[in-house]
Amino acid sequence: MTDSGRPCRHPLTNVAENQRLLAHEQAVKGRFDAIVPVLRRIVGLQHEPDFIERAQAVAREQLGFDLPARILEDAWIGSLDMRALYGESVMRTLRLMAEQARAARTQQGGDDVVSFFLDCGFHAVDITPCSDGRLKGLVRYILRLPDTAVRSLKAYAGAMFDVEANVKRWIETELMRYREGRPVAADAGTRYLKVAVYHWSSSDPTHEGCAAHASNERQAAEGALQRLREFRQAIENSFCCGASVDTLLIGVDTDTDAIKVHVPDADGEMSLYRAVDNLELYRQTVGDEQNDARIKVYQAIQGTSAATGWGVGRGEPHEGMRRLIATLLINNLSQIEYVCGTWGGRYPDIGHAERFISVGDGFEEFQLRNLAYFAHLHTVEEGAPDIDVGIKIFNRLNLMHGLPVPLAVHFRYDGRVPSSRERTVERCRRVKAAIESRYADLAQKGLLVCTMTVQDARSGSPIESVATYNGSDAG
Ligand code: ZN
Repeated sequence: MTDSGRPCRHPLTNVAENQRLLAHEQAVKGRFDAIVPVLRRIVGLQHEPDFIERAQAVAREQLGFDLPARILEDAWIGSLDMRALYGESVMRTLRLMAEQARAARTQQGGDDVVSFFLDCGFHAVDITPCSDGRLKGLVRYILRLPDTAVRSLKAYAGAMFDVEANVKRWIETELMRYREGRPVAADAGTRYLKVAVYHWSSSDPTHEGCAAHASNERQAAEGALQRLREFRQAIENSFCCGASVDTLLIGVDTDTDAIKVHVPDADGEMSLYRAVDNLELYRQTVGDEQNDARIKVYQAIQGTSAATGWGVGRGEPHEGMRRLIATLLINNLSQIEYVCGTWGGRYPDIGHAERFISVGDGFEEFQLRNLAYFAHLHTVEEGAPDIDVGIKIFNRLNLMHGLPVPLAVHFRYDGRVPSSRERTVERCRRVKAAIESRYADLAQKGLLVCTMTVQDARSGSPIESVATYNGSDAG
């Protein structure tokens, strides 16, 4: 409700898109949430004479797949291995949902947004959010961008991205412009845009904020801003001829999905004290006509650039950056409305409610809030702190209820590179083994269910299961 008591309906909301996104979110989460009730039903059947047939019929009807026969067959001698069954069910649901998402995936709007970015002066947009599962819907929901328009989306705990790995990705992008003129030639005068996204919780700021920054919003923002500065400095120091990048810092309140955009000045510098608070902007414009609301968005950016005191900067950013920020703010107004209209302004699950831990490259198919905790890594050594945070979160979500931690190891390979698939499969096995030895006590008790999949780097390629050992069936 707005202050006047009128139900919210922001004039700039994309109503059709909100309905489509809600249907998608409910369908996917509903599938995961159905697992425990269905397994409870199946437990009740285990002493029936036709147990296996009946259990499979329930699973097929309610979950959409068959349960692993070997687990059901073993039930007659003791009791059903519910941990194994739960872990398998989560993983089969994950694969089923990924397949459906892939089939329904369209290039919808992707090319238009790439042209829009180019118009704004950006040939590539690379986003690093925190790996927190509540930011998993960042691109599709919170910022309302088609995922095909984003060059890279790699999450790190606390948005503390690896500067060297990012410089390498920048080099690859720039080389492609020199070699192939994609997406624009090297002399086009456009820039690479690096965005870092931190988060906080407005309802419970000291507990439900960013775990990697001890729920301290300021520390989270500062950490991400520091990395952005280091990245820009790295490019400027390593490459001459005025090589540089644009950077942008965005904060997300994970309770309302409202963003805060830190507006760069004319030199591209940002400040923690110079930002547009979109929730505030939503409140100021919710009763306006469309055009007035749109004008106020631009005025808010202008007003922020003119900040004095601690947030003072050296003028306005370039016109393309202003247009990009305005678009992100307007897109996010639909998401604020989405949370407002569906849950009365605040998510009921302000804390963690992830369904699985995603390790490695992450699934492009899943971009939903609180669906997965994501740990991006190549080796367990480098990603250990991220996985530790994930296990800690699942300690409360699953382990305390006797349920295992479902962990999906997933890596992309490049089908154009000879033997890339084989090397990637090997990496999957190495990472799985390293995780199982790091959390050996959990693994021995069957409280860690780890599956492996690989996928070609080409967007929209199928997800392939990896067998635990050479030649055995992954199921
Ligand atoms: Zn975080």
